[in-house]
Amino acid sequence: MAARRPFVAGNWKMNGLRSAVAEVDAMLAEGVPDGVEVAICPPATLVGPMAAWLADAPVEVGGQDCHAAASGAHTGDIAAEMLADAGASLVILGHSERRQNHGEGSAEIAEKVAAAWRADLRAILCVGETEVERDAGQAVGTVTLQLSQSLPAGATAVNTVIAYEPVWAIGTGRTPTLAEIAEMHQAMRSHLADQLDPAAAGAIRLIYGGSVKPANAAEIFAIDDVDGGLIGGASLRAADFLPIIKAAS
Ligand code: PEP
Repeated sequence: MAARRPFVAGNWKMNGLRSAVAEVDAMLAEGVPDGVEVAICPPATLVGPMAAWLADAPVEVGGQDCHAAASGAHTGDIAAEMLADAGASLVILGHSERRQNHGEGSAEIAEKVAAAWRADLRAILCVGETEVERDAGQAVGTVTLQLSQSLPAGATAVNTVIAYEPVWAIGTGRTPTLAEIAEMHQAMRSHLADQLDPAAAGAIRLIYGGSVKPANAAEIFAIDDVDGGLIGGASLRAADFLPIIKAAS
């Protein structure tokens, strides 16, 4: 099987004004390392500008959510087609902040993933357990159930990346041990072998997210079956994001 190309995406969440072009310029001036696929997912207001800023750079642009419908009476929502039209090539779906703050369940997330695929967007599907679930010994069960319920049939390495993001590690400065990350990524890989056709299961990238920093990126990305990272806070500044990208390359 061909080696999986590392993938690192920045999730800017609800951060960033047009003045953020300065960070993008700083990143481009330094140079984006080769050998790794890179994406930035800014807030919806910056998808179009970001696509223009990065037009000549080897960096993709993504949204942070989309609606399951292509259009309609959904005030405040954004369709996958709109993200694509603005220059996005991917979209984060099922992030725990959407699951928790907006009550999104796995069935709705599966519909959003299918909508993203229809618009030719790659889905970065997020899964992850809460601290209570981990303490109860239910981490692997929770994550594999989320995969079963939120990843529709038809997932391939081209249209999907899966991000394991333990909820308790997001924005907290805490991370699972390397052994815990390895255990979860192995469990996801073998679960996918049952859920998908074998070629897709082996080729889909499984990335880790949750308090990845320049200081811990290399050891996390060195784990078997960790194919890169989804980076929140540390993706906002070129000085932090670039060393993380380098660690994956
Ligand atoms: C995230 O929210 O996707 C994330 C990984 O956040 P952070 O890196 O800030 O923990």
